[in-house]
Amino acid sequence: MMKKFDPATKLQQLEQFGEYGEVNPSVTDAATFTFMQAQTMTDTFSGETEGCFLYSRHWNPSNKYLSDALAVMEGTEAAWVTGSGMSAITSALLHEVNSGDHILASMTTYGGTFAFLKNYLPKFNVEVTFVNTSKLEDVQKALRPNTKVIYTETVANPLLQVANIPELKKLAQTVGAKLIVDNTFTPMIISPYLLGADIVVYSMTKFINGKNDCVAGAICGDADYINSLIDVNKGTVMLLGPVLDPLRSSNILKNLYTLHIRMKQHGANAMYLAKRFEEIGIKVKYTGLPSHPEYELFKSMANEDFGFGGVLTVDLGKAEVANAVMEEMQLRGVGYLAVSLGYFKTLFSNSGKSTSSEIPETIQQEMGMSEGLIRFSVGLDNNIENTFNIIYAVLQEKGILH
Ligand code: PLP
Repeated sequence: MMKKFDPATKLQQLEQFGEYGEVNPSVTDAATFTFMQAQTMTDTFSGETEGCFLYSRHWNPSNKYLSDALAVMEGTEAAWVTGSGMSAITSALLHEVNSGDHILASMTTYGGTFAFLKNYLPKFNVEVTFVNTSKLEDVQKALRPNTKVIYTETVANPLLQVANIPELKKLAQTVGAKLIVDNTFTPMIISPYLLGADIVVYSMTKFINGKNDCVAGAICGDADYINSLIDVNKGTVMLLGPVLDPLRSSNILKNLYTLHIRMKQHGANAMYLAKRFEEIGIKVKYTGLPSHPEYELFKSMANEDFGFGGVLTVDLGKAEVANAVMEEMQLRGVGYLAVSLGYFKTLFSNSGKSTSSEIPETIQQEMGMSEGLIRFSVGLDNNIENTFNIIYAVLQEKGILH
C-alpha cells in the first residue's frame, strides 16, 4: 500500500521570504556575522542563542533556507547542506564511529561510497562488513555488538536493489546501531526517515538540483543530531568543514520546487523505455516493472504518484557492445555518454567501467554486475516514443535484436 505522505505539497506550503519580502530569499554572501554584544557571540559559540549566525562553516542563512526546505520534504526536524554527496556520506558515517567500531554496509553502493568504506575507513580502525542487504538473514548474521551503523542506498547504484528500510531499522535497533540511508535515486518518491531511517543523506548533484551545474549534498535527521554535527568542539561537519557555498544553496532551493514535476516526468519516461525494452527482449531492470524482484517492496514504501524513479539498467552482455551502443546513441541525440544522473537530458554510462570502477572486478561479478551493463538516467524528453525508436534502430543495427 502506498503511503499518503506528500513531500511536494509540504514543500509548496512552506513560506520562506527574505529580509525585504523578496520571494527568493537573498543570498547571504558573507563568511562571518557581526554581534552587537560580545556576550551574544560567546553564547552563540556554546550553542545557546537561537537565530544567530556566527560563521558560514557553521550556518549561513542561505544554507539554512535550503536545509529547512529539505527537512520539510524529508519529514525530518532538520538538515544540513554539504559541498558534495560524498562529504554528506563520509561526514554522516565518521560522526557515528570511533576506533574499534563496526559498520555493516550494503554490498552495492555508489563506487565512491564503496571505496570510502573499503579503503579509507580501515585507516581509523573501523571495520566494515559488506552484505547483500536484500537478504535480511545475512544482515542479521553480520551484526555485531559493536555495529554502530547499517548503511544502505534506498535504490542501490547501479544494480537497483531496493532496501527494506522498516526491516533494516528493526535489525539496527537490536544492537543499538543507526540506519543511514542514501536516498539520492528516489527523492520525494521514498521518504526513508518516515520509514525508520535515522539519517538520510543525498547527493543533491543528481535529481534534487537536476541541472548538472554543481556538486552538492545534504544530511537530514533529528534536530539534536544536526546540532551535534555542527558542535564547535566535536561536530564532524563543523570540524571537517564540507560546507556548501551559499550561492549554490540559493540556486538549489529554486530547483527544489520543481523536483516533483521532474521526478514524475523522469519516472514516466523511464517506465515507457523499460516496458518497451522488456517487450523487445532486452534484459532490463527497473523498479517500476513487476519483473523487478523488489517491485512490491518498492511500492509498499513509496509515496503516492511520484513514479518509480528515473534510473534503469540494460544488460548488453559485453562491454564492447555496450560501448558501441552508447556512442551511437550519443551521435543520434538520445542523450550524453556521461556519468551522473538526474539531468534533464538522458545520461548513460557503463557502470562497471565508470561510476563503479572502484569496485574490483571480482566483487562486481559477485554483486551480479555485468560488464555490459548500461545505466540510463532517463531525461525529461517530451517525446519518449521517438527516443525509444532511435534506441531501437541502434540496437537493431548493432545486431543485438534478433
Ligand atoms: N550517492 C549516490 C547514490 C551517487 O550516485 C553518487 C554519485 O554518483 C554519490 C552519492 C556521490 O555524490 P557526489 O558526486 O555529489 O559527491
